[in-house]
Amino acid sequence: MPRALLLVCDGLADRPVRELGGRTPLEAARTPNLDALADSGITGIADPVAPGVRAGSDTSHLAILGYDPLKVYTGRGPFEAAGMGIEVMPGDVAWRCNFASVDERLVVLDRRAGRIQETEPLVEALGSIELPGVEVELRSLGYRCALVFRGEGLSHRVSDTDPHATGVEVAPARPLEPSPEAERTAELLNTFSAMAHRVLEGHEVNRRRAKQGLPVANYLLARGAGVVPELEGFESRYGMRGACIATTAIIKGIARLAGMEVVEAEQDYLDRARQALRVLERCEFLLMNIKEADEAAHDHSPERKVQVIERIDALVGELLEFARDNYLVVMSDHTTACSVGDHCGDTVPVVIAGPEVRRDGVRSFSERACASGGLGRIRGMHIMPILLDLLNRSEKFGA
Ligand SMILES: [Zn+2]
Repeated sequence: MPRALLLVCDGLADRPVRELGGRTPLEAARTPNLDALADSGITGIADPVAPGVRAGSDTSHLAILGYDPLKVYTGRGPFEAAGMGIEVMPGDVAWRCNFASVDERLVVLDRRAGRIQETEPLVEALGSIELPGVEVELRSLGYRCALVFRGEGLSHRVSDTDPHATGVEVAPARPLEPSPEAERTAELLNTFSAMAHRVLEGHEVNRRRAKQGLPVANYLLARGAGVVPELEGFESRYGMRGACIATTAIIKGIARLAGMEVVEAEQDYLDRARQALRVLERCEFLLMNIKEADEAAHDHSPERKVQVIERIDALVGELLEFARDNYLVVMSDHTTACSVGDHCGDTVPVVIAGPEVRRDGVRSFSERACASGGLGRIRGMHIMPILLDLLNRSEKFGA
């Protein structure tokens, strides 16, 4: 039976860039392997969520895996928490947090506390905080942290305590709807934040940092509240064992919540391609996310984005052989425009290569070339059904 590798290049798609002579970074980059894939495969363009919707990586990956983000997504927190290794359960309310520096009037001085790395002892100390009727879980990775409340009568409809700026006071959480659940959750978050502030202020890690003149990590700023959704397991839904190779917590979290095996990514791209092929010996489906093109575009750097794309192309070169007897999908999860430095709602290019695709006339892989491909214009939610059909794994609809 053929297997499937879905390579999602984060933020790969872009708009025409003036510095690149009106080409997109994907058009400007030398990509012989991606072009060979487009030549042998069927191509198209996709709206990750819906036309014009500026998808995040989280909502887009949910859609691409076939989980309707409009039904299962309430906020980023739950996926971040799952990706950081917290065993979240449906109904939990989760936030993504930053360890931050605040002064005595709770004015934010540094939203990342000097990008502090040593946060494990802080999380351990915060474990002593108890809230009435709620179980609290925390996990950190450097200055980033995930916070989970578990219990009855909670709501994710509360505002961020992160003011998203420095020089202003932390924002007390407010209920975003007039429900007792939202009011209680906002109150609990404010209580937790105040207690956490006291614990962190007195912690020896911070006393040492203060002595060394480093920003202290004396506040936890929370944002992106969401409720953990109940996702049908990938294997029971598609009849394939699924795995995921990713470097970002949010993508790992989505895969974990879908019951997929999460594999720690190799650093080097060529090693990562070989790693993907090894993982595909034990499962039928692999999602691989590569992050760096998105980061280059967030930094407004088309030159760096071109370089990343050429490295991705080399990785794809290692997968061409696989795509002879199996299916290889390469796409972007959303457009990240270098000019904007953020995600845009434009379509993304898609190519599917494999033994029985109807090869179309497109000979190169880019936003514009793929627009005339045989897949036409599809949505993220259509990827899995199309793939299942090619794999001869889909149920017949009707007689
Ligand atoms: Zn991004």
